[in-house]
Amino acid sequence: MEYKKNSKLEVTITDLGVNGEGIGKVDGYTLFVKDAVVGDTVVALITKPKKNYAYARCEKVLVPSPFRVATRCKFAGPCGGCQLQMVSYDKQLQMKQDKVRTNLIRIGGFEDTYIDQIMEPIAGMTEPFHYRNKAQYPVAINKDGKPVAGFYAGRTHSIIANTDCKLGANPDELILSEILKFMEQEKVSAYDEEKHKGLIRHVLIRTGFTTGEIMVCLVINGTTLPKGDLLVKRLCNLKIDVPKQAFMKDDMNYQITSISTCTNTEKTNVIMGTDITLLYGKPYITDYIGDIAFQISPLSFFQVNPQQTKVLYETALEYAGLKGEESVWDLYCGIGTISLFLAQKAKMVYGVEIIPQAIEDARRNAKLNCMDNTQFFVGKAEEVLPGFYEEHSKASSESDTNMLHPDVIVVDPPRKGCDEACLETMLKMAPERIVYVSCDSATLARDLKILCEKDYELKRVMPCDMFPMTVHVETVCLLSKKP
Ligand code: SAH
Repeated sequence: MEYKKNSKLEVTITDLGVNGEGIGKVDGYTLFVKDAVVGDTVVALITKPKKNYAYARCEKVLVPSPFRVATRCKFAGPCGGCQLQMVSYDKQLQMKQDKVRTNLIRIGGFEDTYIDQIMEPIAGMTEPFHYRNKAQYPVAINKDGKPVAGFYAGRTHSIIANTDCKLGANPDELILSEILKFMEQEKVSAYDEEKHKGLIRHVLIRTGFTTGEIMVCLVINGTTLPKGDLLVKRLCNLKIDVPKQAFMKDDMNYQITSISTCTNTEKTNVIMGTDITLLYGKPYITDYIGDIAFQISPLSFFQVNPQQTKVLYETALEYAGLKGEESVWDLYCGIGTISLFLAQKAKMVYGVEIIPQAIEDARRNAKLNCMDNTQFFVGKAEEVLPGFYEEHSKASSESDTNMLHPDVIVVDPPRKGCDEACLETMLKMAPERIVYVSCDSATLARDLKILCEKDYELKRVMPCDMFPMTVHVETVCLLSKKP
């Protein structure tokens, strides 16, 4: 049976799709229904029919799912940011746990009984809102000629005016409102994407959850912000009387400690440019994950959910089983967050990362924390590691041996997972343990299959909910060398 565009079908949703949509079947014909929840019976309006399946959207909920909840944000549907806000948080966690489990079984080829034996329950958040320490709000002029900030409506470039994002840090709304007032009163223009005219493109706000330090960076289509001194004055006088973030000590207050502009005059979707001009304070804010300090500048990468990052990295550290004498490789190390975490307990940590600026940050953060038992390399993991191995496998110095045959290798690759050349060298280096941190359980399962067909055994698995209300799930796994 084939259906036409705009035809309506009654369907019961039985599954969750990769982008958060509901999946249901009518006589073997699969529907991917936007904004429908597992357990709903809905009227689906077909938007894009194909031979064996169709994309659709939820026209009407006939019988609501028992897992449906009222959304906190009234833009939860049209805004692309949250895909699962209308699903109860318990159910979100269960769906993520199931997704990791299913991928390990279907793609990884592991026995279901074995996975059920070793898999730990997902680490969720007690308060799954306002967890992000960073947000980039696009700015535009609305129909009435007023400056607004908010979010792009899912997959489009039209802005939904909303300064009250339920995932953003608590101080964001107040700061954004002040910037918009400044723009209106001082007649500072907003950027118009189509005409490539106007000044303010985005507002980047970052908050140090342990320190209360806040960074504001205005991305501008130009080199200077007119009346920048007035904006600085306004922001410094702003009383940020909002609830504290997790970790923030009672005697600490929010304080804007860094204000800058970032020039981006290109006609591009890329948000940030490369030139930063400091208007006030320091060029960075400081934040801690556990006992480790990080200096974060407007262009630095930093994990966006520090509370869950701590949970994830503590688990990775526990899985690594360090006693103080180990040498460890940390592949895909970014700014060295995991490397420095491991360096607290290891003899030596070697980090590899493709982005040179991230390695600069990693080295600076190592120095800041007085951790001289770290060494960082710029390059692709699949080139640096095999290159190192081929070059040094005949050498005999002790440090070379420790690097060639480390005790532990940690990997935290992007979604596409590890390159085969990287996995092959890992197998040659034959560490006692491999800790795999993953943001995509499908590629994780694929890579684990390769490692476990050879010399490794999967010992522990823990999913971690770093991004509540979205479909994403992180996982940390421990593999041990077979006896
Ligand atoms: N562990 C880091 C971040 C991991 S995100 C942290 O917690 O901060 C994945 C990282 O892999 C990114 O920093 C990305 O730039 C880097 N990367 C992507 N492809 C890579 C490759 N082929 N080799 C090395 N690093 C890579």
